[in-house]
Amino acid sequence: MSIQTITSVREMQKLSDNLRKQGKRIGFVPTMGYLHEGHASLVHLSQQRADITVISVFVNPTQFAPNEDFTKYPRDFERDCSIAEKAGAQIMFAPTTDEMYPHGYSSMIKAGNEAAKFEGVFRPTHFSGVATVVAKLFNAVKPHFAVFGQKDYQQTLVVQRMVTDLNMDIDLIIAPTDREVSGLARSSRNVYLSSSEKEKAAILYRALMNAADKRSNGERNREKLNEVLTQTLYTVPEINVEYAQAAHADTLDEPDYFEEQDNIVFLLAVRLGNTRLIDNYVWKT
Ligand code: AMP
Repeated sequence: MSIQTITSVREMQKLSDNLRKQGKRIGFVPTMGYLHEGHASLVHLSQQRADITVISVFVNPTQFAPNEDFTKYPRDFERDCSIAEKAGAQIMFAPTTDEMYPHGYSSMIKAGNEAAKFEGVFRPTHFSGVATVVAKLFNAVKPHFAVFGQKDYQQTLVVQRMVTDLNMDIDLIIAPTDREVSGLARSSRNVYLSSSEKEKAAILYRALMNAADKRSNGERNREKLNEVLTQTLYTVPEINVEYAQAAHADTLDEPDYFEEQDNIVFLLAVRLGNTRLIDNYVWKT
């Protein structure tokens, strides 16, 4: 059966109401399209737990600042439909910008405390846009659960906070980061990288692994762990670091010393040429 495409919020809601009446369990994978194997892995995870998987493709203007890449964000809807279908999704929800933000639209969600640091410093309006669109998509798709990628680690915390704080009856599943052989995390934005930049971008994963090794060898001093991240990244002169930090994996707190039992997230955002890349790794006890 080929994938069913829906562009209207009202139609999506009606379809979900019907599926729910039939007792079907709905899994949801929100994306901005230009799908890759990372997105497909989220669909697979959803399919293991759902009767029906809805994937959405919507490049959300409210999460981009005016100087960011909204207009040049890569788009290829035909290809997305074929990848989503092959991955096992049954429904493609692809609303237009006007459908999601019609004339007069003016409500936004203020993201919680998890939004303030790291990405929040460099993209101050980003998580409010993310929280808003995720809430809107949840209200359109009415899923039982939604799958998000660990690739956007801080986003998973922000969305979980919103779901908890606003009493949304939706479970979140976090999928591991899908990587190329070099260790580079798959991302729609990797298409911006030249082949030599792509090779250089493998340094992000090496930095994360070096920091994880350092912690495994007993280092709990946060500054020392941060130094490993930064020093590894700067072995590639073309890299500009926005942040490269160790933080408590659940709270994003930054103590001078981590406790023995703390799970730690290493978070990176860098610029390589004109491309901004993020990645992370969670070191667990
Ligand atoms: P995006 O289209 O980049 O907004 O991503 C849509 C969803 O796919 C988000 O939950 C991302 O975290 C997730 N995602 C993106 N890249 C990857 C990856 N390489 N591995 C796993 N999940 C990913």
